Amino acid sequence: MPITKAEASRLSRRTGMKQHDFSIVNDGVLTLLNNAETRACVFLLTDSADVNAEGMCSVYEIRPKGCQTYPYVLNTDDVAVLDDGCPHRSQFGLPPEGTATVLLNLEERIVREGSSD
Ligand code: SF4
Repeated sequence: MPITKAEASRLSRRTGMKQHDFSIVNDGVLTLLNNAETRACVFLLTDSADVNAEGMCSVYEIRPKGCQTYPYVLNTDDVAVLDDGCPHRSQFGLPPEGTATVLLNLEERIVREGSSD
């Protein structure tokens, strides 16, 4: 999951973790790390490597904007759609109005930050 520098700072401040313990720069984009054993986000409380396994976000109240809007993502035409890779996609309806704008603004911030490194 791509995150902004401000989100990384907030996660670090609130969890006490160093940024390099939960994020990595991937192709110039700051991204949440996955746990090596569970293969899920380091903040997901789960013991299973099964992509459909139940789990709880340990930073739910301060989760990044991309997590808040998931499973809605932008397609190649910059239209908000349900992510094909989400195993729970059948539980979601059409993207709420304004989702594409939120995602485009987030993408712009993330790309701008990545290009300034
Ligand atoms: S919602 Fe929580 S567990 Fe899921 S990707 Fe975001 S930070 Fe990680």
